[in-house]
Amino acid sequence: MAVFGIFGTKTANVASSTYYGLYALQHRGQASTGIVVNDDGVFHSYKDSGLTNEVFTPRILEDLGLGQMALGNVRYGTSGTRDRVNAEPMLVNHVKGRLAISHDGALVNYAELRRELELEGAIFHTANDVEVFAYMITKARLSEPSTEDAVCKAMERLKGGYSMLIMSPQKLIAARDENGLHPLCYGIRDDGEYVVSSETCALNTVGATFVREVEPGEVVVFSKEGVKSIRTHCGKKPERLCVFEYLYTARPDSVINGCSVHLARKRAGAFLAKAHPVEADVVIGAPDSGIDAAIGYAEESGIPYGLGLIKNKYIGRTFIDPGQSVREDKVKIKLNPVVETVKGKRVVLVDDSIVRGTTMVRVVKLLRDAGATEIHVRSSAPEFLNPCYYGTDIGSKEELVACKYTPADMAKMFGAESVGFLPIEDVVKLGESGTCKGYCKACFDGNYPTEVPADDNDNKYDHKISENK
Ligand code: SF4
Repeated sequence: MAVFGIFGTKTANVASSTYYGLYALQHRGQASTGIVVNDDGVFHSYKDSGLTNEVFTPRILEDLGLGQMALGNVRYGTSGTRDRVNAEPMLVNHVKGRLAISHDGALVNYAELRRELELEGAIFHTANDVEVFAYMITKARLSEPSTEDAVCKAMERLKGGYSMLIMSPQKLIAARDENGLHPLCYGIRDDGEYVVSSETCALNTVGATFVREVEPGEVVVFSKEGVKSIRTHCGKKPERLCVFEYLYTARPDSVINGCSVHLARKRAGAFLAKAHPVEADVVIGAPDSGIDAAIGYAEESGIPYGLGLIKNKYIGRTFIDPGQSVREDKVKIKLNPVVETVKGKRVVLVDDSIVRGTTMVRVVKLLRDAGATEIHVRSSAPEFLNPCYYGTDIGSKEELVACKYTPADMAKMFGAESVGFLPIEDVVKLGESGTCKGYCKACFDGNYPTEVPADDNDNKYDHKISENK
């Protein structure tokens, strides 16, 4: 999931800029998208399921009109939460005014807070955490003098990993959980408009210059008075950026906490080459996020890098799944081997992670059918052994292949010569050129930075790594 927002004082085509910002953040969520434009306190919104370029036609963007502020979101939803009703931003009318709210992440106490609110008479319309955020903030606003004070008060009860943006008629407010699990930053454009985004790649797209990260626990308020930082929740918990942002979630051209995602991935590949060397003729990457790590593996090992798999980039929401009953293989439709690269070669195949293992069986077969004589699978993430409760779809232990099989067993299952994973001790070194003081790596080692629910079913996983991976 991703958030994107613009604050300015002059009337401009903020809908168009938000559209391009969301387009740059599309990799973080493909289920639904939405934009709210604020024109002197009057909100115009549109949201629907689908990709940004499918949902927003030129006519819809024109109908959103001009404004001084805008808020946008792209969202991933698993089954049951993909529909339009769960799309963000959420618009809320409350006794003190109007708000639009958008978030990236998940609450670990979603079920507890929702139950508490329902017992007080609240009626929920979605299965999305953002509705709990909205209720908690509007409830706090009854006793607090401003929206930002209400956000700070609500944060006392909101537990989990989240980056959120709230737009009131006069202000744009950015907030990040106390551990700083998900990234959030802001920049400024030449015309003085502030741009807030989950990732720096979207700042670049709309011509904004990076200013800084929103700090863990910080609330940043953009208003006509300027930029105000509220640090009530800062420094209460250790910083724990999701390390999987570097391995998979973020775009390689983004910079998180001063560290290039592309360089972090190359570093993962280099560590992998040291930990799991093998004699081979070519290193190839599984597109897209395995490519950078494959280059790092090749550079460290001295084995040449080759373009071994091509991905069809045009598979979107409208992709018709061929299912089990027809001859077409979903993996073959999405991926095709470059025979000239792999035929007669001993191949190292680097992927960003191995979750369920089902796709890897097919990819190895594709390479074998294309003439690879040996296939050595390398994952630039360590073994997934635990679920994620902070918004990344790493499901229960029963679904995780590394919970059931050793790397040697996996090699047999995949039809590969060997399988190797990034050692867990190397994962914290990926962002070493940056400023981050600590990482969440709980899906690998089980050390969660917050309390987690006793019952897995209480939680939803909002962003999906990759279908059937
Ligand atoms: S559990 Fe894993 S995916 Fe979830 S926030 Fe932590 S490192 Fe990221």
